[in-house]
Amino acid sequence: MENVAIFESPGKGRGLKATKEFWAGDVIFAEPSVAAVVFDSLADRICHSCFRRQEKLQKCGQCKFAHYCDRTCQRAGWAEHKLECSAIKTHGKAPNENIRLGARILWRLDKDGSMMSDTQMVTLEELEDHIADMPEDDLKDFKVDIHNFLDYWPRSSKQHTIDDTFHIFGVINCNGFTVSDQRGLQAVGVGLFPNLCMVNHNCWPNCTVILNHGNQSAVNTMFHSQRRIELRSLGKIEGGDELTVSYVDFLNLTEERQKLLKTQYFFDCTCEHCKDHIKDDLKLGGLEVDGVKPTEEQVKEATDYCFEMMAKMEKARLNGNYHEVVKISKDCLEKTEPVLADTHIYQLRMWSTLSEVQAYLQLFDDAADNSRKMVEGYMKLYHPNNAALGMAAMRSGVTHWQAGEIEVGHGMVCRAYAILMVTHGSMHPITKDLEAMRMQTEMELRMFKQNQYVYHSMREAALKNKPMTMMQEPKNMEEGVKNLFHRRK
Ligand SMILES: [Zn+2]
Ligand SMILES: [Zn+2]
Ligand SMILES: [Zn+2]
Repeated sequence: MENVAIFESPGKGRGLKATKEFWAGDVIFAEPSVAAVVFDSLADRICHSCFRRQEKLQKCGQCKFAHYCDRTCQRAGWAEHKLECSAIKTHGKAPNENIRLGARILWRLDKDGSMMSDTQMVTLEELEDHIADMPEDDLKDFKVDIHNFLDYWPRSSKQHTIDDTFHIFGVINCNGFTVSDQRGLQAVGVGLFPNLCMVNHNCWPNCTVILNHGNQSAVNTMFHSQRRIELRSLGKIEGGDELTVSYVDFLNLTEERQKLLKTQYFFDCTCEHCKDHIKDDLKLGGLEVDGVKPTEEQVKEATDYCFEMMAKMEKARLNGNYHEVVKISKDCLEKTEPVLADTHIYQLRMWSTLSEVQAYLQLFDDAADNSRKMVEGYMKLYHPNNAALGMAAMRSGVTHWQAGEIEVGHGMVCRAYAILMVTHGSMHPITKDLEAMRMQTEMELRMFKQNQYVYHSMREAALKNKPMTMMQEPKNMEEGVKNLFHRRK
């Protein structure tokens, strides 16, 4: 680890600092997981070795619980699964994800000792568990997990003291990293990455962390590259600067971010953006038309109304009533758009969900308009290299392409590509998808400028073949990747 060093960060405890200069998109470090598990709810839909979503998975013949893409993935995952497999068989059923992760970590510790890779900078013993900070109710659930863990842990495995066991479960509770599918669109599991736990939070961070699944397509397990996280620089970082990532979405108001950070990660954020409430005024502001602003009362009324409708819209979406989603949000936006700023966060949430649902219903023109409003709002709020902004621009680019608005579509795709080159890197599967899309839209744009008739008939044909099947059914997006660290439910 020549790029970073552990240091005492003023007011924050330990942290990591850069030991040399970095530029946007540099990988500061990469780190394999100590262990990771698939969520209970997705256990038969996600491969337990490579964490890809697959239509058809094969069951482990022994425990009937673990699922894999194929023999290659099963073989690659065997070292992690071997003891778990027999424990599940003996126990009669698989315990919940927290317990499975705790057990995988302890087996790993027993096998490899507390330094598991040559890049690891801290031992698991050294990580914070925040058990003393946990509220009474959470502690109760926590103890139930420990109790069930002790039932599950085989007698033939090494027995750990109750303090050590509590510590590992405490570490998972505050540091369990959300593992996404290969496209980074859905949260599918949770894992532990010790070095990452050392990176402190800032609401306006200088780094981002991305999961890279590596290459598991090689037939021989030997050539598989490991699942790893990458800490990537979002801009210029000087040697000696503290490295930070954001644990929460910046689209929350300062007060909401502070509350989340306090209850989930047990600290008070003192970053510049919190101290000065930066951009809070935009997030709840009124729309200025020709120098005239709505009154505070009008803004408050529209805000409350939008909040109320948002809850209704969410409910309709979860129930799969997509036409209802469209109706609720259109009615709401008709009233609020003349009053609320184009950066108002409730309106942004509406445009986001509405455009997603409209694209799914193939109402491409409306979907494109609303997705563009979303991206334009995001651009005024987010850091220019924020990954969520990049993903939103990508979605909007595809939607514009589907609507036949090739110029805006190509522009959005290019914007997304520039951001994802920084946040994900050129080797990430989603960046490769974007690269292909960028070439396609560029070619179409050229054709469009030469001959619009040929362009339109070609696009019709392309739409029928659906080369860009990016759109999932919206309800699958309910657990998007919003939080860096996974919270117990
Ligand atoms: Zn797999
Ligand atoms: Zn098994
Ligand atoms: Zn902050």
